[in-house]
Amino acid sequence: MSLLSVKNTLSRDKYSTGRNKMIIMEERMTNIIIVVDATNGFCKEGAIVDKGIMQNVPNMVNLIKRKRLLGYKMIVVADNHKPDDLEFQRFPKHCIIGTEETKVIDELKEFVDYYVPKTRYSGFYKTNLAKILEKEKPKEVIVIGAWTDICVMFTIADLCNRDYNVVVPRDCIKARDMTKTEMCLDIIENTLGAKLVETQEEL
Ligand SMILES: [Zn+2]
Repeated sequence: MSLLSVKNTLSRDKYSTGRNKMIIMEERMTNIIIVVDATNGFCKEGAIVDKGIMQNVPNMVNLIKRKRLLGYKMIVVADNHKPDDLEFQRFPKHCIIGTEETKVIDELKEFVDYYVPKTRYSGFYKTNLAKILEKEKPKEVIVIGAWTDICVMFTIADLCNRDYNVVVPRDCIKARDMTKTEMCLDIIENTLGAKLVETQEEL
């Protein structure tokens, strides 16, 4: 096949399928809820557990149920560490691959569309989260989970770096160090440009 005929074939394909492709892309556009570390190790039991986040789980469930009716999909990004992970120089050992600690809490597990294992604070670092979002093409990404001052904030930062519209219900997140809550919310809203809301506004 000559170069010219290859070109002609490509342009014919483009012409005949371009419109359909556009329609498919529009239909596929959806919205996303990212739930950060809503796992047993963070919420129920383990070396770094903070059961305070459980107070916000009813808000999370209400929000997720409502948004799923509107077509939102849910991605859980969750710590899955090797036993010798260097993160354990900063934190006690937690969420080792294959353990109960890495499993989504019972209250949320029925809603999981994607489970993304991670090893660092941002849900993007060495994961397939970026690819999932490229496929789903969300107009909006809601971020909830634990903790405001660590994984939630660094995941939001990487979403904002990628120009996603990020919404954060402040009563569906919690800081590990509560003295940092206001500072982190200020960074999330005014530095990163995410929209802070109350869950009730989203129902
Ligand atoms: Zn970790």
